[in-house]
Amino acid sequence: MTVELICVGTELLLGNIVNTNAAFISEKCAMLGLSMYYQSVVGDNPGRLEHLLHMAKERSDVIILSGGLGPTQDDLTKEIAARVMDKSLVEDSKVRKAIQEFMTKRGNTITENNWKQALVPEDCIVLHNSNGTAPGIIMEDEDTRIILLPGPPNELIPMFEEQVYSYLHNLQPEIICSKMVKLCGIGESAAETKILDLINTQKNPTVAPYAKTGEVHLRITAKAANEKDAFTMIAPMEEELKRRFGNLIYTDDPQVTLEMVVAKLLKKYHFTVTTAESCTGGLLAARLVNVSGISENFKEGYITYSNDAKEKLLGVSHETLKTYGAVSSQTAAEMAEGGAKAAKADICVSITGIAGPEGGTEEKPVGLVYIGCYCKGKVYTKKNLYTGNRSKIREYSVATALTLLRKAILNEVNERNEKTTRNLNKMNK
Ligand code: ATP
Ligand code: MG
Repeated sequence: MTVELICVGTELLLGNIVNTNAAFISEKCAMLGLSMYYQSVVGDNPGRLEHLLHMAKERSDVIILSGGLGPTQDDLTKEIAARVMDKSLVEDSKVRKAIQEFMTKRGNTITENNWKQALVPEDCIVLHNSNGTAPGIIMEDEDTRIILLPGPPNELIPMFEEQVYSYLHNLQPEIICSKMVKLCGIGESAAETKILDLINTQKNPTVAPYAKTGEVHLRITAKAANEKDAFTMIAPMEEELKRRFGNLIYTDDPQVTLEMVVAKLLKKYHFTVTTAESCTGGLLAARLVNVSGISENFKEGYITYSNDAKEKLLGVSHETLKTYGAVSSQTAAEMAEGGAKAAKADICVSITGIAGPEGGTEEKPVGLVYIGCYCKGKVYTKKNLYTGNRSKIREYSVATALTLLRKAILNEVNERNEKTTRNLNKMNK
């Protein structure tokens, strides 16, 4: 079943208001398994709205309209839609009573134009508006259904949730459910390449990659009669993704963030961590501090923006800074090692780079960022070249730093486990 959305309002065309109704309705329709192929915005202009409605009627099964149901002269949605559906307007006594009650309760005086809202197309379904005076309306003919909703979101949202959702669900009893698998340490195109065969042959469920800052999310979506069936269909696809991506998957819970996963690992293995940041100026520490209870593992962090601070607080050698520069793998390594020593922490993550827009050279361009991680005697470094503005480069740097931190912890734990297994094997021999 296809659904089309038309938002009415000159304010929307001028950019005076953001079309949040479109985002809300689209998301709900997608959940209901309805295919939305067209969305438009039209001003408060009767001719253009009528033209658009005729087009929509030709190509879509359900047309949802938002806005233009108010009492004033420029609110014309109902009149035009009724004309397109060949229905005349009649007064509805229940709506008239509801308007009277709503206005009296609020102490508002009723003006003559308020009664315009009591007019509804003949044979329509009237949707009660608990937050305003404009009723919602559903009109049906042999091949089309038109749903009119008031523009103000505080009226539209409850009306949709309480009355329209179940109406649409009855039209097409299939629903759509999805599950998100979050990856770090892999780019969008590399992730897509690994599942290209699944994407090319997919029907139901489908899988699609979404690039996030420093992460890739894979969304598995299934269409089924109910939630239980949908998740039963999703499960084998999720297993397959886990098999292909292994440790690159950091969670399958939409509420869980990368810093939450890192914090959980730190807690589980009783590691303390510190941060040594240059161009991110504390952003990495802030991401860690997003997680409540991190104080057990994160005691202090360093912001060492100048070379002097890198020497003074982290013990980076003057020689290293002079020979390789502040933005170098050597400096990142010494920052990480020095930070861990200064804070007496098991782990230290360092970030040093050029966030721009000034300060780049041919040899060291804007976006060049070195990330270091000292973990229990080992030092890892990673060279990155990001694109984007200053804030994007800093956000990417932090995401990579958290990814490297997670990798260092997993490596350390892995090696520890292998050592234990080797020792056990030796004892058993
Ligand atoms: P009213 O009785 O307030 O006139 P209406 O149904 O005629 O309601 P509009 O006049 O089109 O609706 O819009 C009224 C207000 O509702 C707008 O000023 C805006 O604040 C909000 N609104 C309208 N359309 C949208 C939309 N698509 N997204 C978000 N808000 C909207
Ligand atoms: Mg209006």
